[in-house]
Amino acid sequence: MNMEKKSIVILGAGYGGMMTVTKIQKSLRIEEAEITLVNINEYHYQTTWLHQNAVGTVSDDRTKIPIKDVINPQKVTFIQDKVLSIQPKDKKVILEKRILHYDVLVIALGFEVETFDVPGLEAYAYTINNIEKARELRRHIEHNFSLFVKEEKKNLSRLTFVIGGGGFTGVEFLGELADRVSELCKKYNVDKQLVRIINIEATPTILPGFDEQLVEYAMNSLEARGVEFITGATFKECTPTSVLFEKYGMQTKISTHTIVWSAGVKANSIIKESDFTTNKGKIEVNNDMRSPEYDNVFVIGDCALIMDFEKGKPYPPTAQIAIQESEAVAYNIRAYIRNEEMEGFKPNILGTVASLGNRDAIGIIFKNKKVLGWKATILKKIIDNRYLFKLGGLRLLVKKGKFAIFPRVK
Ligand SMILES: Cc1cc2nc3c(=O)[nH]c(=O)nc-3n(C[C@H](O)[C@H](O)[C@H](O)COP(=O)(O)OP(=O)(O)OC[C@H]3O[C@@H](n4cnc5c(N)ncnc54)[C@H](O)[C@@H]3O)c2cc1C
Repeated sequence: MNMEKKSIVILGAGYGGMMTVTKIQKSLRIEEAEITLVNINEYHYQTTWLHQNAVGTVSDDRTKIPIKDVINPQKVTFIQDKVLSIQPKDKKVILEKRILHYDVLVIALGFEVETFDVPGLEAYAYTINNIEKARELRRHIEHNFSLFVKEEKKNLSRLTFVIGGGGFTGVEFLGELADRVSELCKKYNVDKQLVRIINIEATPTILPGFDEQLVEYAMNSLEARGVEFITGATFKECTPTSVLFEKYGMQTKISTHTIVWSAGVKANSIIKESDFTTNKGKIEVNNDMRSPEYDNVFVIGDCALIMDFEKGKPYPPTAQIAIQESEAVAYNIRAYIRNEEMEGFKPNILGTVASLGNRDAIGIIFKNKKVLGWKATILKKIIDNRYLFKLGGLRLLVKKGKFAIFPRVK
């Protein structure tokens, strides 16, 4: 059979992009396809660990995985570059340093922070959306402890941390921060009673939509470690030294040097700025994960919108779904190239587990089984380790896996 070699370009080496690459490098023959992976960094990182990097309970090196360690260089060319735009009508992608042409495109560019136009939020709030941002926040937290000790006139706003958003990311961050604060207080000889960790959530409860009993458990666990919750409240303005919020029509100002925003994500804005029809900034994909407008463009992860018809709303953006989608995308790329039948994709939600720091967690597995405490903590580590194994086999698992059941906070 004399088949023309197809050029497959994958944009983004996050969960969706990396898993697609590792699958198609195995399933396609060298003479069938030229595979190119484009990513802004020379490493892949586990986005789901970033809250731990952001407080320093896990080092950046643990979270980062060099892309060259996972791809097969005989089959995949890796280009470290920034994607600027996609021109699907001309089948090309504009990168900062070059232009790429493709036969098949996979868009896996992930998410961006949504600031909802709150004045000062973009300029003054810290976010947890990539390794650099996480590193900045980690340094800032510790720097404020050190300044508090150094400064003659004691400024309690240096020890006040305000976290906007009580969804999964916010709650996981709160848990890590509460653990880390104990360590920092010991290190800088600061009375723990002086530290305030305040969560501000717009809806009447944290983790909206999640099991009520588990939400209560999470709140108790975090409150026991000093976290204060203000629910039903919205950010109005951020400045370098304060945050203004509104609750019941009343505005209150908190003096703080650290505002962390974890209350909103949207798809990478490249999608909206390129020539695609979007729904909530994402591409609403066909059942086979392709764009309805361009049959050679697959979309995956946080850039793709899939409806959950049972609930009448889109599936939330999660790593779990991005990883599952990569299986369908890899299968369908091969089918597309070989002119075979494609398969449809439907997420199979295996469960949701949220950590509450190093020693506590909550989750729902197998549709409605609740897990909490140390069992959920172990489960969370199993989920993380399972991904590493899927991505890079035993070698990657041994190198990067989380094996200590209750590790010490560094
Ligand atoms: C702190 C935190 C905790 C989370 N916890 C969980 C959890 O427990 N379970 C869960 O299922 N989900 C969790 N999520 C959500 C999950 O991380 C995302 O849904 C998932 O990362 C989406 O995968 P993706 O492949 O679409 O994008 P990503 O994994 O974000 O990857 C996108 C990739 O594209 C690259 N990129 C972006 N822009 C460009 C550009 N212009 N040029 C080149 N490269 C670019 C990025 O560097 C990145 O490597 C969490 C998210 C956060 C922030």
